[in-house]
Amino acid sequence: MKTKRAVIVQCRLSSSRLPGKALKMLGDKPVLAWVLTSMKKVKADKYYVATDHESYETLKPICKQNGFDCFAGDLDDVLKRFCDLIKTLKVETIIRATADNPFLFYEAAQASVEEFEARNKGRHPCDYLTYTGLPHGSGVEIFSAQSLLDAATQTDNPYDHEHVGPALYNHKDKFKCEFIKAPVRFNYPELRTTIDTYSDYLRAISIVNYLKNCKEPYTTEQIISACNSDAVNNPVVFVPSVVKGQGTGHLHRCLSAAVETKGFVYIPDDCTLVETASILDEYKEKGLENWQIINALPDQTFNPVIITDNFKLSPEQAQSFSKCKKLICLDEGSDFSEYSDYLLDIIPSYDIDRLPNLFDTSYISKPVNEKAERTHNIEKVLVCIGGEDPASLTLPAAQALVKNLPGAKVTAIVSDVEKYRNILNINFIPPVENLREKIFEYDLVVSHYGLTAFEAAFAGCAVIMVATTKLHERLAQKYDFAFIPHGKIDSLKMQKALESPLLYPQMKMSIKQKSLGSYIQKLALGKKLYCPVCGQKSEESGKNAKPDLVISRNAGRTYRRCRNCGIVYMSFTAEEEMQYKKSYFFEDYKKQYGKTYEEDFNSIKAQCTRRLEIINALQDDLGGKNYLDIGCAYGPSLAAASELGLNPFGTDISEEAIHYVKTKLRYPSACSAFPQIDCQKEFGISQFDSVSMWYVIEHFKDLDSVLSKISEITKEGGIFAFATPSGEGISAKSNLDHFYTISPIDHFSIWEPSKAQKILKKYGFEVIKIVSTGHHPERFPICQKENIQKGSIKWNLIDKYSHLMQLGDTVEIYCRKKADK
Ligand SMILES: [Zn+2]
Repeated sequence: MKTKRAVIVQCRLSSSRLPGKALKMLGDKPVLAWVLTSMKKVKADKYYVATDHESYETLKPICKQNGFDCFAGDLDDVLKRFCDLIKTLKVETIIRATADNPFLFYEAAQASVEEFEARNKGRHPCDYLTYTGLPHGSGVEIFSAQSLLDAATQTDNPYDHEHVGPALYNHKDKFKCEFIKAPVRFNYPELRTTIDTYSDYLRAISIVNYLKNCKEPYTTEQIISACNSDAVNNPVVFVPSVVKGQGTGHLHRCLSAAVETKGFVYIPDDCTLVETASILDEYKEKGLENWQIINALPDQTFNPVIITDNFKLSPEQAQSFSKCKKLICLDEGSDFSEYSDYLLDIIPSYDIDRLPNLFDTSYISKPVNEKAERTHNIEKVLVCIGGEDPASLTLPAAQALVKNLPGAKVTAIVSDVEKYRNILNINFIPPVENLREKIFEYDLVVSHYGLTAFEAAFAGCAVIMVATTKLHERLAQKYDFAFIPHGKIDSLKMQKALESPLLYPQMKMSIKQKSLGSYIQKLALGKKLYCPVCGQKSEESGKNAKPDLVISRNAGRTYRRCRNCGIVYMSFTAEEEMQYKKSYFFEDYKKQYGKTYEEDFNSIKAQCTRRLEIINALQDDLGGKNYLDIGCAYGPSLAAASELGLNPFGTDISEEAIHYVKTKLRYPSACSAFPQIDCQKEFGISQFDSVSMWYVIEHFKDLDSVLSKISEITKEGGIFAFATPSGEGISAKSNLDHFYTISPIDHFSIWEPSKAQKILKKYGFEVIKIVSTGHHPERFPICQKENIQKGSIKWNLIDKYSHLMQLGDTVEIYCRKKADK
């Protein structure tokens, strides 16, 4: 006879962390409906929602719509609620799900109930069974109806009564409970799909949005692909300024990028920008969806990429945002930009002293409507001094214009038209919707430093900037705008501005408009990295929660210096990851060095011979000659070592390279992603007399495990030597930002010889020799300035100076493993 089954979904509306979560909307239906649609796919004889009396009336219609019956029972004694329901059903097997899991694996539920029944028909009966290893929130429990009824009578433990399963599995002496590792298809313990918190809810929204073209309920594979998607792993949250007095430009820009990227936009309930609601409506017509607007920020459990367009971050904001997955700031004007992983300036920054990663005005949304012809006749004038005009500059500016331009029609945008009702000759109007596309109608626009000024310039209008601070004055000058200096406005000052040769701005900026949304999307997928030696922990546990100091920013990357160990490292990269395939040694190598790796083999080998001779000279007389080259590539150093009488061993991540070393050069070598190598197993040697890394050490994101491993495989008294670009060479010293801009995208740490000892000491090494290499007199600024020719006396002097002062652009560091670590 067939066993009868009941699916029971447990649901209540009183949740402390996220009240009413079962009714929260996901896509076009409440969370509970998602759960029921999914559980309906599991074959059963009865389908029930078990709730409390208070929630019953609310939930009943949803249950009915989805083919479930609704049962009301005890609110707190959930065990009793279940038993009361079970007593009314004539079934043997219960499949229990909870209403906070909209992405249940119904295939796994079906498989587990079949397994449960098979066991109970066979020789391994059990009372309870569940799969382990499913995403948190995708699993169900299967148990015998009778066993649960028995269990309930045998426990008065409050915990057992607040739940269901524990009455069985916390009493394994009486009940046989099976926790079975789920089949591979369902095994994703690192994923989370449940809705317990607001952050979980936002994740669920992202999953639904990602899968919106799929039929519901979603399959296991669909749910997993959504969980691993960029939208779910790098959720973007825009944080625009919605503060009265800071203008509407920030909100406009974020909403427009959110329409493009489908990111969330954080609008706190207490936002003071009066135009917010109407602007939101404007963008809803352009495709902004309701779910995109959030009024609380997700926490670490749905770790967002924060994009701020917030005018000025507060120190608290900067600190808390920097703990998120990534912090990307647009036109950030505070003193806390150190916290930001990436600074993008679109309108040249308010704070002109700090350097952004990228300054690019082509991300300003240019008006579609432009002046057809540039007449130097000023007939229509617009005064638009942002938002609430805190400095009250609008009226004096407009009056000065009337005086200077008799006959011209002067219009001024003000938030309160009534206030100006008695002033003649000036046309006062309220804020204009979509001003950008109307600005071309004016011949002259008088504005403060902000988007409108740039948009007017792009539309072909004459522009006068009214400097609201000294800083704005400098900015207006920097970007070649006619301006009225900071302070009172009078008609004389206006006259001077009108006579300025800069009245029609020659936009130096590129004309081609770029998409801000897609650039933000690219940045959001960028990688945040921590100190390769100290890792993330040191930053978190650091006494001062300050971020590591920014050394340099460029369009693709940010570099910082670790406060703890002093190393300079790449802390953010928006560039694609490098693959060390054959092309790395051939095409890429040629691109970087101008010749192929093979062509270069002999000259590389000669360098290796020189370095190995240094190692030999430094080596204590250990009697051993075992030498390991990590990142041996096609084996030039191994060949050099062999000629010097050493026993060479090599390892490299490139299979092609190792194949070449093994078959052509015939040296023992192993393909490995160092430090994942067992040298004893691969070579029969656990410790080497010397270990080298030639231009390899800078490629590791996790140097700590690399240096620990090297320490482990180097004999006491043995030598570890490496070569790497120098962060203290002439290129870095003469133009730091250029040096970091051209630093290859796969160099994660930059070594400064003066800091090496401190870092290496931690791993039991003592630096005993530093050789400055890569001397290039032509890279000295004086050489370029005075056009000093190669071979000349001055050239030779600079070369000598470079050697003496150790200003080479590369460096070799030799250290000895100390006897007692
Ligand atoms: Zn560090």
